[in-house]
Formats: sequence, structure tokens, C-alpha cells
Amino acid sequence: RCGFIAIVGRPNVGKSTLLNRLVGQKLSITSRKPQTTRHRIMGVDTRDNYQAVYVDTPGLHIEEKRAINRLMNRAANSSLTDVELVLFLVDGTHWTKDDEMVLNKLARSGLPTVLLVNKVDNVKEKTELFPHLQTLSEKMAFVDVIPVSAKHGTNIDVVEQKVRDAL
Ligand code: GDP
Ligand code: MG
Repeated sequence: RCGFIAIVGRPNVGKSTLLNRLVGQKLSITSRKPQTTRHRIMGVDTRDNYQAVYVDTPGLHIEEKRAINRLMNRAANSSLTDVELVLFLVDGTHWTKDDEMVLNKLARSGLPTVLLVNKVDNVKEKTELFPHLQTLSEKMAFVDVIPVSAKHGTNIDVVEQKVRDAL
């Protein structure tokens, strides 16, 4: 089983760091400066029984189905059909209007989406997260909500399980 997984979120939430975690290689560029990743960066995680192609979306651009289809055609692999799952990454310590823009686009896309609340290593008081999560969940139904730390690897195994389930 094989498919595309899109990693989506505003700049600086940790998309490149997450991609590096998931594929276990330094394929993606990370930086404090927003929008270091100007081009679409992909990483392939090949396992015994599945293969996940992760797409790190540059900046605020959400991959539309058309763009993914173009990409898919180039991939010349007929078993790849569409984005199987979106990983919507937010920063648990820093919520902005840009996150809301991304959320609105995702909600309209109708794609199955898992909300990943990143940088939980920096969240001192877990209850600080709840108002944001409440707001998010009211706007869109998520497949799941998972607190993660891309930097430290917290709950990355849980994310991988979700990906496997989606493929
Ligand atoms: P992108 O713009 O969404 O691709 O974000 P990056 O992956 O480039 O990360 C932006 C910044 O956040 C970098 O300085 C990362 O080291 C930092 N970062 C990413 N994930 C985490 C995390 O889980 N915890 C903490 N504390 N910092 C993180
Ligand atoms: Mg990046």
C-alpha cells in the first residue's frame, strides 16, 4: 500500500522538522526564518508493508488536488491516486491568523485531516492548549488530534500509525 501524505501549515510550525523525523533523513531544510522551504520537498518512507510519500508544503500554499495530480502523473506510478491524508501542523505555543487561513482552506478541501499540535515540549501548562483546540475543532472535524514534538520525536509513532491506517 502506498500513497501521498501532505504536511500542511503556516511557516515555522515545524513542517520540515516533522518531515525529517518521519523519513529519518535530512531531506528537508529547517530554519528559524519563515519560508526557507521555497520548493515542494518530498520524503519517502518505505516500510515492509507500506510506502508513504510525504509532501512538505512550502509556506502557506495548500496543495490542491490538481497540483497533486500533476505531481502524481510525473511520479509515473499508477497505484498513487490522491492525497490519502493531510497532517495539519500547528504550533501549540503560538497561534496566528495564518493558522486560521490554513484551517479554512483545509475545511473547504474536505480532505481527511489529522491535527498535529507541535512543540508540546514548550507548552508548560497543557490547559493553555484547550481554547485553541476548541476553536479548531468547531471549524473542522479532524480524524484525530495528536500532540507532538517534531524536534524531540514525541508521539511520532502515533502519527505513523495514523498514516499506516490511512493508506
Ligand atoms: P516549517 O517552516 O514549518 O518547515 O518549520 P521548521 O521545521 O523549519 O521549524 C521552524 C522552527 O521551529 C525551527 O527552529 C525548529 O527547530 C523549531 N521546531 C520544530 N519542531 C519543534 C518542536 O517540536 N519543538 C520545538 N521546541 N521547536 C521545534
Ligand atoms: Mg519548512
